[in-house]
Amino acid sequence: MKITRIDVPDYEHVAKAEDPESGLKAFIAVHNTVLGPALGGLRMWTYRHDEDALTDALRLSRGMTFKSAVARTGLGGGKSVIIGNPNSDKTPELFQAMGKFVDSFNGKYITAEDVGVGIPDLLEARKFTKYVTGLSRELGGSGNPSPYTALGCFEGVKASAQEAWGSEDLTGKVVAIQGPGNVGFPLGQQLVEAGAKLIVCDVNPKNVERARSELGATVVTTEAIYDQECDIFSPCALGAVLNDDTIPRLKCKVVAGAANNVLLDENKHAQMVMDRGIVYAPDYVINAGGIINVSLELEPGGYDEPAAVAKIRNIHEALGSIFETARERGITTHAAAQEVAERNLAEGAAKKADGASEATAANPA
Ligand code: NAD
Repeated sequence: MKITRIDVPDYEHVAKAEDPESGLKAFIAVHNTVLGPALGGLRMWTYRHDEDALTDALRLSRGMTFKSAVARTGLGGGKSVIIGNPNSDKTPELFQAMGKFVDSFNGKYITAEDVGVGIPDLLEARKFTKYVTGLSRELGGSGNPSPYTALGCFEGVKASAQEAWGSEDLTGKVVAIQGPGNVGFPLGQQLVEAGAKLIVCDVNPKNVERARSELGATVVTTEAIYDQECDIFSPCALGAVLNDDTIPRLKCKVVAGAANNVLLDENKHAQMVMDRGIVYAPDYVINAGGIINVSLELEPGGYDEPAAVAKIRNIHEALGSIFETARERGITTHAAAQEVAERNLAEGAAKKADGASEATAANPA
């Protein structure tokens, strides 16, 4: 296998692997390890060009740095991508080669599931590296992260309701869920239990039908979701759904959902949402439940579900304080979240520097 290091400004360690024997072509991007090893999922996707795959890995790994910094998981940000079709190109050898590539980072990068990659694939990688998380409970892992992401989102919706209406009571509130999938559906269940009514859309007819029959949701088309009279819009499918076209159409008071990279342009569209008087729960804060859950695997005592749930429920408080900062200073909630992330990173860097100088004082060369 040929591993080539790529220099990218502001990134700690980026590399490309090419293995003609297994067909592996992959990138690993470690953005920042100031707060701990870089944990982020492995994605498999039919990228058209190598540069697209690299761009995705870079963008996602940077997002993981901020997500973990705000959630105080004790982890840094990283991500990896395999170029290939997850429906037709998977082989055990491909993921074994990926395992070797992950291992070449010596623990600086820890992998997990992401789009197009499942537990059987991780088990192949696991044969060549111990730096794999998110395996099933039977195998000593923390299991499927989606219900935990949904729990964190539910807490985030309540915190957003508190900000918008002065009460977290969701009775009678109408929530439009875009994509009731692995996260959106269990989120919908909790919302209905809390007294909310749902509107849903999905490209997958099975998921639409499940939300209609089991949650009493009203179904609309994927395009009409932005125009619905509702209290809360909950994007749980795709990124970039808040943009020049959709923001003026929204008829809600809150945007709070699981999807990553919701804002097409982070600063411009956060400002547009704010100007419309809509409370926006920053994506990487509200959807951190899954990474928080997985991070508990790396604690000295191993995975502990009650501890994970307690930490995930803190998303409520974390968002509350971001909303307060944004309100008091007249800045967007996105900017306020970014400040928390940067402050936590700076604290981590200062601690690391202190630790290094203490070690030098104790063991002078
Ligand atoms: P999923 O694939 O199970 O669910 C997404 C749903 O959206 C599916 O039902 C899909 O059919 C639907 N969808 C796709 N395109 C759509 C469109 N154009 N309009 C409407 N619906 C559409 O994925 P998931 O695991 O539930 O993740 C949902 C989002 O949350 C993703 O953006 C993901 O990156 C993010 N996220 C997930 C987790 C997690 O733990 N699973 C953690 C953090 C962030």
